[in-house]
Amino acid sequence: MFNLILFGPPGSGKGTQSEKLIAKYHLKHLSTGDLLRSEISRKTRLGLEAKKFMDKGHLVPDEVVIGMINDALDNNRDVAGFLFDGFPRTAIQAEELDDLLAKKNTCIDVMLALEVSEEELIKRLVKRGETSGRSDDSNEMVIRARIQEYHKKTATVADHYQKVNKVVMIKGEGTIEEIFKRLSDEIDRLMKLDNCV
Ligand code: ADP
Repeated sequence: MFNLILFGPPGSGKGTQSEKLIAKYHLKHLSTGDLLRSEISRKTRLGLEAKKFMDKGHLVPDEVVIGMINDALDNNRDVAGFLFDGFPRTAIQAEELDDLLAKKNTCIDVMLALEVSEEELIKRLVKRGETSGRSDDSNEMVIRARIQEYHKKTATVADHYQKVNKVVMIKGEGTIEEIFKRLSDEIDRLMKLDNCV
């Protein structure tokens, strides 16, 4: 298997690049944001509970997203690998993910971390809010709260994988194709190695 975390702050292009990467490498895309939005649109209990946090720009509690990821891993047993997008977002989620993968005799091969300036992030998110229909994109206060949550709770997830030398920084500004090429070049290089032994 080849398991990859696409990492970066809100608006760094994880969703856009994930779509292209899963098509090229036949990985299963697991986006906790998409999974949560699907729960919300189906008005499930989990979705209604999660929405309260998301509308404020706060993170949803760890046990909720870990449960969703656990189910998704179990429901996708015969895949070439996973692309995690928007997960893990806290140190606890990272530890749980490592344990869940270890039970399946695999691991995270790499964290590709997109770097984008704060000014560019806000510009992109405000623009996305004009068309996406996402309530958390349509209010600059909520956008700023999400970026704050990222700095407070999520940025440390990179330290977790840095300790085992699995973080590669990728410049997240430029055209979509340029960024896609930077990501693909790294993946091509890493796929030749066996990182989970
Ligand atoms: P973005 O990264 O652009 O903010 P996402 O679609 O990844 O968008 O996430 C939207 C919201 O869903 C987050 O602000 C947060 O409330 C919630 N969320 C998504 N993934 C997680 C996670 N792994 N842990 C906690 N909350 C999450």
